[in-house]
Amino acid sequence: MDRMNNVTKSMTVKVGNVTIGGGNPIVVQTMCNTHTSDVEASVAQCVRLHNAGASLIRLTVPSIAQVESLREIKSRLRNMGIDTPLVADVHFSSEIAIACAEVVEKVRINPGNFHKDHEKAKEQFARLVSVCKKNGTAIRIGLNHGSLGERITNLYGNTPLAMKEAVLEWLQLCEDNDFNNVVISLKASNTFVMTEAYRLLFKEMQKRGKIFPLHLGVTEAGNGDAGRIKSAVGISALLSEGIGDTVRVSLTEIPENEIPVAQYLSDRYGRRLHSSMVSLNLDSKKAIATYDAPSKERLLLDFSCDFGKRLLDKEIDEVEIKGTYVGENGQRIDVSADGYAAYLVDEVMQAARRRFYRPEYIACPGCGRTMYNLENTFNEVKQRTAHLKGMVIAVMGCIVNGPGEMADADWGYVGEGNGMVSIYKGKEPVLRHVSESEAIDKLLELIEKK
Ligand code: SF4
Repeated sequence: MDRMNNVTKSMTVKVGNVTIGGGNPIVVQTMCNTHTSDVEASVAQCVRLHNAGASLIRLTVPSIAQVESLREIKSRLRNMGIDTPLVADVHFSSEIAIACAEVVEKVRINPGNFHKDHEKAKEQFARLVSVCKKNGTAIRIGLNHGSLGERITNLYGNTPLAMKEAVLEWLQLCEDNDFNNVVISLKASNTFVMTEAYRLLFKEMQKRGKIFPLHLGVTEAGNGDAGRIKSAVGISALLSEGIGDTVRVSLTEIPENEIPVAQYLSDRYGRRLHSSMVSLNLDSKKAIATYDAPSKERLLLDFSCDFGKRLLDKEIDEVEIKGTYVGENGQRIDVSADGYAAYLVDEVMQAARRRFYRPEYIACPGCGRTMYNLENTFNEVKQRTAHLKGMVIAVMGCIVNGPGEMADADWGYVGEGNGMVSIYKGKEPVLRHVSESEAIDKLLELIEKK
């Protein structure tokens, strides 16, 4: 059954053999974290992602030389019979975006850094569109809260409204160039900012009678349960309203791990899967839910989706879970055993930004620009800063995008490459070129001194 009605139905965008929008199933996508120049490793990861169920795979293209690597990766995959469309992720170079548009099925650009000169950006975008038209390539206008351009933030502040307005300018450029093969994203790490930005844009597109498909994601969501819960809370709030056509769950883990979470969201809001919640007692401000979950993972996702939006939108202030889930050996486990129910409530409350019981972490998923072991470092930072309740700490994979993307973090650990790290306090670097072996100690020293 069609999951959207005529008022919410987006246009369709063709990305190779995949159709995004128009009420089609929600497309599951992910991104490689290999270096694109390492063709062998990238092909191997694409094969794993394809086998795991990714319908679109994105790769970063940080230099013009890597456009050739991208071409080679695509050709090897096609020779293996894998026709999953590829997406080039491009920042800070409109020329690279134009070059990639001849090679892969979709190019993601970031309006905040497509070109530093706004007038020149328009010219370059027109060139990009003409290459896309010739090759049947789609574009994603991938705007992030952390990397809004200065011109826009001077006009609207660093707000969901600014995100919407920035995208509208780019949609006008699409209109000027008579180009509709466009998907849009407005990601933020903050679930409130992210949901508001998408809702504002969606409403505006509805008003104009032309709804471009939306790619949903909570950016820099981190890893483990917290990353899954934060992603599920933000993405499900929108999908439950009929907003969104494709999803990427960004986790600071191997990208294969993102697929089951994204697939769950796609299935649930494509009406192929139902929550395991069997009973709900909802008074005006508190919900009591009883679950009969087939696994611990399902309980976590069901609960995040059932209550994230209600908490985000302040429909309720508190929630309690009761019931059971099936453990690894098939035994039924009470959800309150070992404090699990209380932990899940704390995590969902924090993801919905209603109550902060631990530090808030912002960590990018890593990509071909990452020059250090992001996942291990992030886990160590989490372990050593666990006592800093309410503080916002970012761990970012690269110095090119990291500082811009870490939005409203109090402190940032940003990989520079060559074994070096920069430490940021807010938007300012306070220590540069610290060796990786000392960087976490230095970060803690600085936090304690402040
Ligand atoms: S911040 Fe992280 S995900 Fe973004 S470009 Fe840098 S390494 Fe890649």
